[in-house]
Amino acid sequence: MNIAIVGAGLVGRVLALNLLKEGHTLTLFDKSSKEGTDAAGFTAAGMLAPFAELETAESTIFKHGKRSMELWEDLLKEAGVYDGLQLKGTIITAHPQDIPELDHFISSLRNKIEEAKDIEMVDSQKLSKLEPELGHHAKAFYLKDEGQVDAQRFMAFSTNTLSMNPNIKWMEYTKVDKIEPAKVFYGDKVEEYDWVFDSRGLGAKEHFSDLRGVRGEVLWLESSEINITRPTRLLHPRYKIYIVPRENGCEGIELDYCKECKISQEPGTKRYVVGATEIESEDMSPMSVRSSLELLSAVFSVHSGFGEARIVNTETNCRPAFKDNLPRIENADKLTRINGLYRHGYLLAPAIVEKALNEGLYNDKS
Ligand SMILES: Cc1cc2nc3c(=O)[nH]c(=O)nc-3n(C[C@H](O)[C@H](O)[C@H](O)COP(=O)(O)OP(=O)(O)OC[C@H]3O[C@@H](n4cnc5c(N)ncnc54)[C@H](O)[C@@H]3O)c2cc1C
Repeated sequence: MNIAIVGAGLVGRVLALNLLKEGHTLTLFDKSSKEGTDAAGFTAAGMLAPFAELETAESTIFKHGKRSMELWEDLLKEAGVYDGLQLKGTIITAHPQDIPELDHFISSLRNKIEEAKDIEMVDSQKLSKLEPELGHHAKAFYLKDEGQVDAQRFMAFSTNTLSMNPNIKWMEYTKVDKIEPAKVFYGDKVEEYDWVFDSRGLGAKEHFSDLRGVRGEVLWLESSEINITRPTRLLHPRYKIYIVPRENGCEGIELDYCKECKISQEPGTKRYVVGATEIESEDMSPMSVRSSLELLSAVFSVHSGFGEARIVNTETNCRPAFKDNLPRIENADKLTRINGLYRHGYLLAPAIVEKALNEGLYNDKS
């Protein structure tokens, strides 16, 4: 089939990788560059945290999250990423005065889902074995069935892989104004396709009147003195943060974007994505002083080595979300819309795309 995908961010790329396997011909539209650095999918920390996210999420997020975790390995290979998936679990800790909050957090997960009963409490001694540099924390929990996708590697390598595919035409810098079944409207043009996918994230407000953006800011820090090997969360009454190690940083990524930016990694350093703020606003302007103070003081309180880390980059974007913060699939004849992945895009995209295809295109009898 001749298929259009409008929005080549996270969902658009996951769709493209799935549809190429079936032998379709694709046109990818994006209002920005094909490097994808304007998409929320580029800003994301890429955590796959079906358990930790349960506190504020519904069990459907857990179910789709677990399914996505089964699908990511093959998907990443198809995107040309061989070192972007880590499934070593998450550490959640808190300062001594906040331990009751940590206990409450874990018990709320255990009340929501049977599998959460296996979450392991680790004392300082056990923590020292898992993460030697965090052993000074008296108590933590180890969520062994979680992980992360290196979001920046996924976006960069999928750009290369998809660009080179002869069955893809990539219409970058092309803002689509309207989408109808089998039709894409942009500028003064209307193009017809056998099927159209709307994966514009926050750019789909023209269709979804109840779509909103939730601002998120992250820092990229580099240090030669810190060695944290798995995503680590700090529970705090005001500043909840995560620290996500990026094993390979920019290694092997060669994009036009890389030539311009100053964030090629210093040899011998390790990169950490630290985030994220969550602000009910669609402001995409750079990180505020308040947010950077909060994130930086919280990360320093987890590991004092961050005092000498270098701030190499800050990123801001908005998570596309509906009122219930749940993903939405709309299937019609010759048109599928996927949106509202909120703070769970990496956790959900492979499973939600699978569901959307099974209920839409693959179910089409015409
Ligand atoms: C700070 C932050 C941290 C995050 N951390 C995580 C995490 O740890 N784990 C996790 O699972 N998720 C995380 N997320 C969430 C995840 O990034 C999003 O859920 C996901 O990117 C949404 O995917 P999407 O494809 O719908 O939107 P996007 O990735 O934003 O892609 C939308 C694309 O559509 C294009 N577009 C928009 N309008 C138009 C138009 N009119 N015409 C053509 N193209 C258009 C855009 O340019 C963009 O490329 C995080 C998000 C943020 C902001």
